[in-house]
Amino acid sequence: MELSTPIQFIKGVGEKSSKLYARLGIETVEDLIYHFPRRYDDYSKVVKIKSIRPGAVTLRVKVVSLNARYVRRGLHITEAVVADDSGQQKIVWFNQPYRKAAIKSGVDYFVSGLYDLSGDRYQIVNPSMELVSAFPKNTARIVPIYPETKGLKSHQIRKAISQVLPLIEQIPESLPGGVVAKASVMRLSEALANLHFPASNQSLDAAQDRLGFEELYEITLAGLLNKRDLDLQQGLRVKFQAKLAKDFVASLDFKLTDAQRKAAWQVLQDLTGLSRVDGAQGAAEQWSKPYNRYGERVAEAGTQRSATSHGRVAGSAGKQVVAPSQARPMNRLLEGDVGSGKTVVAAMAVLMAAEAGYQTAYMAPTEILARQQYEELGRMLGQFGVKTELFIGALNAKRKMEIGKSIESGVADLVVGTHALIQKHPKFKHLALAVIDEQHRFGVGQREKLLGKAAKAPHVLTMTATPIPRTLSLTLYGELDVSLIDELPPGRRPVETTIVSPANRGQVYADIDAQLAAGRQAYVICPLVDDSDTLGVKSVTQEAERLDAGPFKNRRVALMHGRLKPAQKETIMREFADGQHDILVSTTVVEVGVNVPNATLMLVEGAERFGLAQLHQLRGRIRRSEHKPYFFMMTSEVMAPPRRLRYVAGTDDGFKLAELDLKLRGPGEIYGRRQHGELELKLAKLTDIKQVNRARQAAQASLDNGLDLLQYPRLSARVNNLRKITNLN
Ligand code: ADP
Ligand code: MG
Repeated sequence: MELSTPIQFIKGVGEKSSKLYARLGIETVEDLIYHFPRRYDDYSKVVKIKSIRPGAVTLRVKVVSLNARYVRRGLHITEAVVADDSGQQKIVWFNQPYRKAAIKSGVDYFVSGLYDLSGDRYQIVNPSMELVSAFPKNTARIVPIYPETKGLKSHQIRKAISQVLPLIEQIPESLPGGVVAKASVMRLSEALANLHFPASNQSLDAAQDRLGFEELYEITLAGLLNKRDLDLQQGLRVKFQAKLAKDFVASLDFKLTDAQRKAAWQVLQDLTGLSRVDGAQGAAEQWSKPYNRYGERVAEAGTQRSATSHGRVAGSAGKQVVAPSQARPMNRLLEGDVGSGKTVVAAMAVLMAAEAGYQTAYMAPTEILARQQYEELGRMLGQFGVKTELFIGALNAKRKMEIGKSIESGVADLVVGTHALIQKHPKFKHLALAVIDEQHRFGVGQREKLLGKAAKAPHVLTMTATPIPRTLSLTLYGELDVSLIDELPPGRRPVETTIVSPANRGQVYADIDAQLAAGRQAYVICPLVDDSDTLGVKSVTQEAERLDAGPFKNRRVALMHGRLKPAQKETIMREFADGQHDILVSTTVVEVGVNVPNATLMLVEGAERFGLAQLHQLRGRIRRSEHKPYFFMMTSEVMAPPRRLRYVAGTDDGFKLAELDLKLRGPGEIYGRRQHGELELKLAKLTDIKQVNRARQAAQASLDNGLDLLQYPRLSARVNNLRKITNLN
């Protein structure tokens, strides 16, 4: 028997049940071995009948008496009295008439099941039972429970797997030489054997750890290889101009936070394409003293957060010197909570690129946001001679043509737009930098199209306010360099967040009115656009009318939703920003990036229908000034609020929330395309930073030691597949 042998040749499987196995995706012996238990029942402890306690128990007994009968049609009962040297116990099986014929008297059995209240007394109902042996499969051990299908139960799968155990013991090690010993993980064969038939809880833990470690090792290896390829790509060099950077910073009407300076420096450093050449960063270093050449604050070098950018350089610093004519394109993710000031960091990059004669494409997910960023970037950069254009679907054909020409001829330095940017037109003359704002709102295909508009690999700066938990940025996003803006501009007040019940609606309205009276503005967010919703969620239109006619009849109420015409949306947003409306009743179109500093209060209706990240995004809308912000999450009925809401109310820290979200939902749901399933992460714990770090160190060490993947065909195939899945470019 070999790994590739069809399953039907396993003793006891046969042709008929091999069809059932096929339903579980199991065709070969190898498939069977990699069909991992979904959980375990611990029946390892054998107890005496006299000391039996409610819960999972295993007895070692002989059968004293046996009685089987049909109570009525559809209800068959098998009752047995079993005994050990301490006493007797009754056990019962429902609708398992075959039991009687199988049970022999005078021999020792293990019986494993739940000792529990059944009717009016404690019994063991429907237990597993097998002859005492040195290697029990269904009793007296930690018993694996498998994903099953109709007609194919765990005990059958156990039996089949026990048949191939000798083969499992011969499975060659899949991790490259040295890794097993260095990372002190269990050998593959031992891990597989223990995963199916754990010798103890400790060996089960070790087996799961080993297999999870391997998955993470493969993913990080894929990420590091992608990064290595990226390092060899050629992009366009954008020189760092210290004076220009200084002038720009001086022109702002606020002082950059330390976190912004650090992020900006990292970005500008990347643009030079020379991140690795010693001495090349002299000017930049002076400009931004407290950071070392990896953009880490010197004081915190080696701490967890800065290790992300460290990863790229750590293993290869000094080894791989890029010739000055080449420019490694930037591939950086700028993470910063809503309102942390990412735009200005991007603006500095745009400025340097423009000064070097190159163009930037800045893509935002909505027209409202594109327009807002167009205005803000234009305001910041206009005085430095940067020509900014707006390119969105709402423009008429003539205007599109005009702007298209300006882009194509190279007159426009910066083009801010929506998805409209990735159509066939506009074409760019010298696109060197692509900025993708709120990157999680774009698909990978859309990003690729934008990048495809550059002749040479462009520098890519992606920005997000939905932080990627550190464990994910080290694994799935291994090829990305990450900059964090982990502080808000000074003077921002923490948002007071409350979960409210509709029973207290009156009080909430009174609170809103008090803020309006003090000159502030408010958002009321509703989940849907129209009445078609039967689940009782308020229609935004109706809600606006209701508020306008009733509770807020003395205030100016405006309505906003995604089905309005772009021009209407724009007008309303502008009016709201100008203070012409007190309350904006809206769907989540205001979720992303919208900036109206005077709006400091938000009421979210039907809050339990929103995701955790979305709620945090919404909350970010009202944290843009020095007035104290208030965030109300109202449930649609009087209910115990779901955990999500309590998390949001519990912390204002987007990073903490992202970690919690990952724990609640798993990475697949959060990170769209990177499905858990597609990645085949069976045992990796993406929330376990220790495991992630161990795997990452091992992968980096393998590369540093000149790992030759060709020697490991299985690893090589898996890593190559992962490289495709996780590659962002
Ligand atoms: P986000 O990170 O959510 O994209 P923005 O870049 O839109 O945040 O910035 C939010 C607001 O904060 C803007 O009005 C911006 O002008 C302002 N801002 C940015 N940086 C600072 C700072 N260092 N000090 C004060 N205000 C700042
Ligand atoms: Mg933004």
